[in-house]
Amino acid sequence: MTSVPETEPAHPLAGVRPEVRATPAYPFTPIDAPFKLDQNESALDFPPALRRLALERLGQRDWNRYPELDAQTLRLKIGEYEGWDPDGVVVTPGSNVIIKLLTEMGGIGQRLLTVQPTFSVYELEAQMLGAQVTRVPLRPDFGLDVEGLKRELAGGGPGVLSLIQPHAPTGFLDAEADVRAVAEAAGDGWIVVIDEAYHQYSGSDYKALVRGRGNRLSLRTFSKAWGLAGLRLGYALASPELAANLQKLVSAFNVNALTQAVAEVALEHPEYVRARAEEVVWERERVLKALSGLRKLHAHPSQANFFLLRTPDADHAYRFLLERGLLVRRQDKLPMLTGCLRVSIGTKEQNDLLLAAVLELDAE
Ligand code: PMP
Repeated sequence: MTSVPETEPAHPLAGVRPEVRATPAYPFTPIDAPFKLDQNESALDFPPALRRLALERLGQRDWNRYPELDAQTLRLKIGEYEGWDPDGVVVTPGSNVIIKLLTEMGGIGQRLLTVQPTFSVYELEAQMLGAQVTRVPLRPDFGLDVEGLKRELAGGGPGVLSLIQPHAPTGFLDAEADVRAVAEAAGDGWIVVIDEAYHQYSGSDYKALVRGRGNRLSLRTFSKAWGLAGLRLGYALASPELAANLQKLVSAFNVNALTQAVAEVALEHPEYVRARAEEVVWERERVLKALSGLRKLHAHPSQANFFLLRTPDADHAYRFLLERGLLVRRQDKLPMLTGCLRVSIGTKEQNDLLLAAVLELDAE
């Protein structure tokens, strides 16, 4: 009798690429708390009058039909709002999706050049898609190490260079000359992404740096100043040629009809965005001023709708705030951010509660 050779049973995940298996999931655990200051969202919902208009608009749309293929109407309205050629606008369900697509477009088999610490999605996508990641540490004040970045850029592309202005998770806004110097050093061999998710809170705008340059783009979102994180909508502003290539990677009918309808209403009434951003900036400065004399803790200055709070013991500080109903985000495992919590600016009442709790913690 001949015996059948034993074969190793296949591992049920053997078909999953090792890079995907080795990459950690997006580091976020939803926790219920009365005061959510952990995701840098707008503390205020979409204005009630606009919500009524949006609901009406939803009622007028066909729900049984596919939406516009590339959300042409929405892209036209974004183009009008931004003063940008609509052929250079790409929309996706959240700007996170564009980060993935940029990695697919310019990172796979190539490089991602980024800073450290940074917004985790850039690194996670690069790791999963097999892009070679190079991280240039920020300066001690959280600014860009321009010379360090220039050295890496000279070391060769092609690839994707990601710059966030104002930066996340530090809230630091670089001097425009520094951003410009790095973008210039990238030459044409790199796709230069300026992620401007929080630009309404810093008053900065890098459209002029991007315009007319076929390898640069600005990344924006409806999740922050527009108060529409639940909708999932982000967009890129680029040259029509770069946008056309990015668009090839967008799956068909990517932005659903309901999101398109609500965002169109928002873009027809954008006045509230600036007014609210001004309120957030006012509150941010009030909070940072009130925390300027801390003894054991330190609140880092910020140009975004959040700030870093450095504590002697992040675990204790996190729990202390949570016991008082205040949910913030731990960032203390990131390089340079030992002891740091990231705190979103909330409503005036929430900020008052936060201030009282932080002062109590500092006095412990
Ligand atoms: N870029 C940065 C710097 C962010 O902080 C975020 C949200 N946390 C995003 C992009 C993604 O935003 P969204 O997918 O909601 O548009």
